[in-house]
Amino acid sequence: MSKIDTTNAALPRRGFIRKAAAGLGAAALGGLAAKDTNAAKVERHWDLTADVVVIGSGAAGLPASIAAAEEGASVLVIEQNFDIGGHAIESGGNVALGGGTSLQKKYGITDTPDRMFEDLASWHDYRFSDREIIRAFCDESVATFDFLLKHGVQFPDKSPGGADGGPQNVKRSQTVIWTGEVSAYSPTGGNGTALMRPLEAATKKLGVKILLRHSMTGLIREDQFSGKVLGVTATHEGKTLNIQARKGVILSTGGHTSNVNFRRIFDPRLTEEYQVVGEPYSRQSGDGEIAAMQVGASIWGAGSQTVETQARSHIFEKPYVIGNQYGYPQGGGKRNENIKDSPVKGLARAIGLQVSDYQNLIQVNQAGQRFVNELATGFDWWNPCLELNGGKGEGGGPIWAIFDADAVKREGWTCAPPFVDPDGWFFTGNTLRELAGKIVCKYQKQPMPGAALEETIARYNSFVAKGKDEDFGKPLPMHKIQTPPFYAAWSTPCIHDCLSGLRINGKAQVIDLWGKAVPGLYCAGETAGGFNQHGLARSLTFGRIAGREAAKSAAHS
Ligand SMILES: Cc1cc2nc3c(=O)[nH]c(=O)nc-3n(C[C@H](O)[C@H](O)[C@H](O)COP(=O)(O)OP(=O)(O)OC[C@H]3O[C@@H](n4cnc5c(N)ncnc54)[C@H](O)[C@@H]3O)c2cc1C
Repeated sequence: MSKIDTTNAALPRRGFIRKAAAGLGAAALGGLAAKDTNAAKVERHWDLTADVVVIGSGAAGLPASIAAAEEGASVLVIEQNFDIGGHAIESGGNVALGGGTSLQKKYGITDTPDRMFEDLASWHDYRFSDREIIRAFCDESVATFDFLLKHGVQFPDKSPGGADGGPQNVKRSQTVIWTGEVSAYSPTGGNGTALMRPLEAATKKLGVKILLRHSMTGLIREDQFSGKVLGVTATHEGKTLNIQARKGVILSTGGHTSNVNFRRIFDPRLTEEYQVVGEPYSRQSGDGEIAAMQVGASIWGAGSQTVETQARSHIFEKPYVIGNQYGYPQGGGKRNENIKDSPVKGLARAIGLQVSDYQNLIQVNQAGQRFVNELATGFDWWNPCLELNGGKGEGGGPIWAIFDADAVKREGWTCAPPFVDPDGWFFTGNTLRELAGKIVCKYQKQPMPGAALEETIARYNSFVAKGKDEDFGKPLPMHKIQTPPFYAAWSTPCIHDCLSGLRINGKAQVIDLWGKAVPGLYCAGETAGGFNQHGLARSLTFGRIAGREAAKSAAHS
């Protein structure tokens, strides 16, 4: 295997190398610095050199680096965070791979790549996907499962569960098991640690170098819209590095949902109040997409990011917990003991309150009005939150759960830190009017009118008395909101998945605006569009494909 060269190697003589040029207003899009967006000759040296340079060390990045190293390439991983893993290390670790895996076979589940393709290609969610991508996923699914086993990921010895939909409804999902016990440091306590730490160990064993706290800021291509991608620029502690990729660059930066300007390209309703699951540990920066667009790459599957298309995929989620910023449990994960040293522990500020029964609260918009049946899930809840409710109330904007002292008793909640965050996400009042006046949050653009909140509660209480929700059809509304103190907890939907991104083909090559593969540029995971599938399985699989294909390609001089 060739080694990573950390000397200042000379740039190839071909010369006339331009940094990624913009014309796309990238400075306004976030992440990338304005200076990186102007066409300019880069300095005539490389600070680092490897065959394959992988950007991001999450569910796509680590398999990419392992697969490339296994093909004999030298590999360098650039990761902007202080630790590896991205969203994947925080994930539930449920991996939907099929097509005839050893676990499926062991438990008598008949599956083949063809069967899997038939299921996925004819299922409504996947109508938003490229069939070439679905096919590659199905063909590579068993190999990805074997790859995970080979590199130390363990699955429980039991039948895969959770049928995948489609005409044959084959069971294809399995959850990784925690094997390393507490020795495996976990930044947020997520089960995905059991997936990512073994992959990290495999990466290191193969001699791959992971540069933490290094942020990719742009791509270096022979010319802006033509020629081969030669490397990347990255920043580390205020310094800019030029990093050469002799064979290819793999963008696996995890998608763009944390970048409000960028995500609103796909759906203008995805305004800033919607928090992103996975933060504050890991941000979906959009950096990969922007860098690739600057060299002519095409964005793909934009419609997949609108909430209406998500039947099963998780673009939008009802918050898992209320009363904290991120809507997901923070620091309350399964391996709580492992997060004690995590720099994110303090950033998350509150664990949040888990709602066991939505009969215990109502949800109001920023104007203090109900707009939804609070017991609803999926489409029936998301759509009203984005103002698609047949004209019956408006959900767009901050959403507050309102409840009283009786509800707190029924739920067994502790309405104090570290469970709730009184700094903008949780409020208390002795009267409803007082409560409305106290709601001060950066996303609540105008004070909630106290009279409106009083009117809403009075109307809701009258529905409880009648046993019928005449406005939104909540089945048998059960509890009046009447006993002070009253509470308002942040209960706004969060954004979970990124399903649109760069156009790729079945070999994970990035496709440009003219429909041609960009030589030397690959992409996998949530940075890629064209595959309307949730999560880890597609990221792991296309990561593997990208790593292998990049390593097998011819090196440029
Ligand atoms: C709480 C939670 C639970 C989940 N549970 C599941 C589950 O059970 N099953 C499932 O299938 N999916 C699940 N998912 C989704 C799954 O984790 C993601 O789909 C998957 O991690 C995406 O992989 P990725 O490689 O594209 O991105 P990530 O895993 O997020 O990795 C991207 C990496 O790129 C880095 N990066 C970004 N920009 C730059 C830059 N400019 N320079 C250098 N590095 C950069 C990031 O820091 C990050 O480490 C869950 C997600 C979350 C947040």
